[in-house]
Amino acid sequence: MARGRDEHQARQGQLNALGKALARRAKSVCELCAARGPLQVVEVPPVEDEPQAEKCVLLCSHCQSQLDPAAKLDVQHWFCLNQSIWSEVPAVQVLAWRLLQRLASESWAQDLLEQVYLEPEVAAWAAAVGPKAAGTPPRDSNGQILADGDMVHIIKDLDVKGTSFVAKRGTVVKNIRTGDDPELVEGRVNNTQIMLKTAFLKKII
Ligand SMILES: [Zn+2]
Repeated sequence: MARGRDEHQARQGQLNALGKALARRAKSVCELCAARGPLQVVEVPPVEDEPQAEKCVLLCSHCQSQLDPAAKLDVQHWFCLNQSIWSEVPAVQVLAWRLLQRLASESWAQDLLEQVYLEPEVAAWAAAVGPKAAGTPPRDSNGQILADGDMVHIIKDLDVKGTSFVAKRGTVVKNIRTGDDPELVEGRVNNTQIMLKTAFLKKII
């Protein structure tokens, strides 16, 4: 654990070294909401081994805290995406696009997503992460966030497509894997790797 923290600190040190170049690009304001400092360098996943300025954005603490998938989105605050989605910086566009996806129940966010055009490589980047990094983690029937390696049990008998068996209610599934669809996780039942609907799962803590 200690090692993980050291690595994290080393990475943050490398990121801070990009701060000057980013401050110039961002004109020293938050690249999403234009708030003035204190600003922090934040990577936009998926990231490379070496931190790169093109893969980073400069954010205020409020924008940064909202990136946590578990954070309740401050809808009023995110009206700022009306501006930042048109940024010329791909990393800013990607982050703004992912946030708009999380806000897609808001009609203004949907309208914006329909209007915006992302260059193909930017669109691929925006869609290149699973739900965890994109900010829409899979959740079980109780709204608990599901992550790789979690153990769940099935709360309803489920027919398994492509097989003749039923995944019985009460079946425990260990070591699930999350993917790109927040409504599905992968797990092993009857020695078969299957996709399970998160709405029919309960996390075992
Ligand atoms: Zn901000």
